[in-house]
Amino acid sequence: MPNYEKLTENLTRRGYTVRRFPTARQAADYLDSVIDQTSVAFGGSVTLDQLDLYPRLSAHNRCLWHWKGDDRMDGMQTEVYLSSVNGLAETGELINIDGAGNRVASTLFGHKRVYFVVGANKIAPDYDAALWRARNIAAPKNAQRLKRKTPCAVKGDRCYDCSSPERICRELVVLWNKPMGVDTMEIVLIDQDLGM
Ligand code: SF4
Repeated sequence: MPNYEKLTENLTRRGYTVRRFPTARQAADYLDSVIDQTSVAFGGSVTLDQLDLYPRLSAHNRCLWHWKGDDRMDGMQTEVYLSSVNGLAETGELINIDGAGNRVASTLFGHKRVYFVVGANKIAPDYDAALWRARNIAAPKNAQRLKRKTPCAVKGDRCYDCSSPERICRELVVLWNKPMGVDTMEIVLIDQDLGM
């Protein structure tokens, strides 16, 4: 069980708003209520897919998601951006690894409101453990999901820091604090295992 008290304290100190929900359903209900009549882009995220947010938010917002066929570039200038993380440290660092870079770029700049939706499995005690998780658990699982010809996808046990042309890990972004240009950055914690 993550130390939610420590995590919330550290995230708040770093400028984030923190909300916690027992179930994915309750978190989805919350996001559906606060994101209304605006433009929303989705980062590639199994967690967001599991929450079934795209059809729900599309009913009353303009939603863009490259997983649904929209162009990545069109999602760079929406009011709201949704993502998850590959690792979240109880000390407050948010860690994401990306391939194309649109997801990590959007968590840094260009959107007024950013929501990170994070299952309990993404939380690690400190920065080193969260980075280890992002590299050795999340990335190999994503490589397997994408059916990449990489050593991690074949063996499924850890990162091999590969030189494969199909390597999915090309950028690492660590958020230390809420970026200056973003009005609101919320961490939506869910007491369930979600995503990779
Ligand atoms: S760097 Fe290569 S081996 Fe490591 S997780 Fe990424 S794709 Fe897999």
